[in-house]
Amino acid sequence: MTPRSTDWLDFDRHHIWHPYAAVHADAPVWPVVNAEGARIQLADGRWLIDGMASWWAVIHGYRHPTLDAALKTQIDRFSHVMFGGLTHEPAARLAERLLAITPDSLDHVFFADSGSVAVEVALKMAIQCWDGRGQPRKKRFLTIRNDYHGDTFGAMSVCDPENGMHRLFTGFLPQQLFAPAPPQRHEADDGSALAAFEALLRRHRDEIAAVIVEPIVQGAGGMRIYRPDYLTEVAALCRQYDVLLILDEIATGFGRTGTLFACEQAGVEPDILCLGKALTGGYMTLAATLVGDEIARDICRSEAGALMHGPTFMANPLACSVALASIDLLLDQDWQGRIMAMQQRLERGLAPCRELALVRNVRVIGGISVVELHGDNLPDGLQEALVEAGVWVRPFRNLVYVMPPYVIRDAELDVLTSAITQVLAACNR
Ligand SMILES: *Cc1c(COP(=O)(O)O)cnc(C)c1O
Repeated sequence: MTPRSTDWLDFDRHHIWHPYAAVHADAPVWPVVNAEGARIQLADGRWLIDGMASWWAVIHGYRHPTLDAALKTQIDRFSHVMFGGLTHEPAARLAERLLAITPDSLDHVFFADSGSVAVEVALKMAIQCWDGRGQPRKKRFLTIRNDYHGDTFGAMSVCDPENGMHRLFTGFLPQQLFAPAPPQRHEADDGSALAAFEALLRRHRDEIAAVIVEPIVQGAGGMRIYRPDYLTEVAALCRQYDVLLILDEIATGFGRTGTLFACEQAGVEPDILCLGKALTGGYMTLAATLVGDEIARDICRSEAGALMHGPTFMANPLACSVALASIDLLLDQDWQGRIMAMQQRLERGLAPCRELALVRNVRVIGGISVVELHGDNLPDGLQEALVEAGVWVRPFRNLVYVMPPYVIRDAELDVLTSAITQVLAACNR
């Protein structure tokens, strides 16, 4: 196929911010002109196999006919109306579906416009709940190191203080409490991480509104996988010391770890749950914060008398319609069998990486696999080499990781894992 003109690319380079990027940087960005299934087409005609699902989101692949149709149908009705004083069927149906598939502890849905905002709303809910209960001193949050919860200020304040952005914004960020990261599944557990968590909880119980954690898999803060028992214990301690438990399933939700929600593996029901990323099948930006009825009532007993948040694009009808279609599409198939098959194939495909001297650890859970390298940095030119090998993988720090769309074909998955293996083997020499 003939390459497309990319005369706009130069403008992009000089005028547009990309995520965590410098202006006038020479870090490459690849122009995309098309995407379908688990493949992304570049302007020069090449197709790359997508290992990222566009940051966990595109679980059904690009241009899925069912999701396309859901959007087209809603476009012919209306694309947006304000949610203050008005409502619509897509929001109600989606909320109903979310409450049906998430833990029973949840009864009310707040639709936010991004994951970070869903986290902000969760933090507000916790603070307002304690205000409503006559304990306005409870305004701090306890979390664990290596967590990631988003880039807005409240969310940033509960991200890992070392690899997050704390130093940069010291003096402006609220000061939260950080317990050591739990040991990973492949590491020994001497119980000290949980003991330190409990010590912090005991000491600060009167000022802690909630504990916030990513269940089972810590994503952008290190791609770490920890044992479900740790989460089970954390939930029990939250009850014991009377603080709320917020679970951030923005990355892990909708089947990615092998259960519909990762908290199911620990038998834990959160007080507040954050969803995002794969919620719309990666079509549009939408997130949700779910909460139980008792807490919702206490929030409304707080001084404000209401939950004080309301984004302009709250419950956007296009986003709600495609989210509903995406959830139905997921549940109407043997999604768990699909994820388990992916897990096996990823394990097998990446096993040879374990033999490479530059590789420290290979770990897989559900549709997520991580190749961790020795040292703190990636070999130079790794991203370019992966693109040359025909795959879209975006490594960061010392981590080469993939979480492909669930629709990826076995043959495509094999190309993905062998490309990673070969590119790393070439760096090894
Ligand atoms: C991506 C992510 C967020 C932030 O979501 P945005 O939509 O990027 O604001 C929050 N928490 C977790 C666990 C995430 O992976």
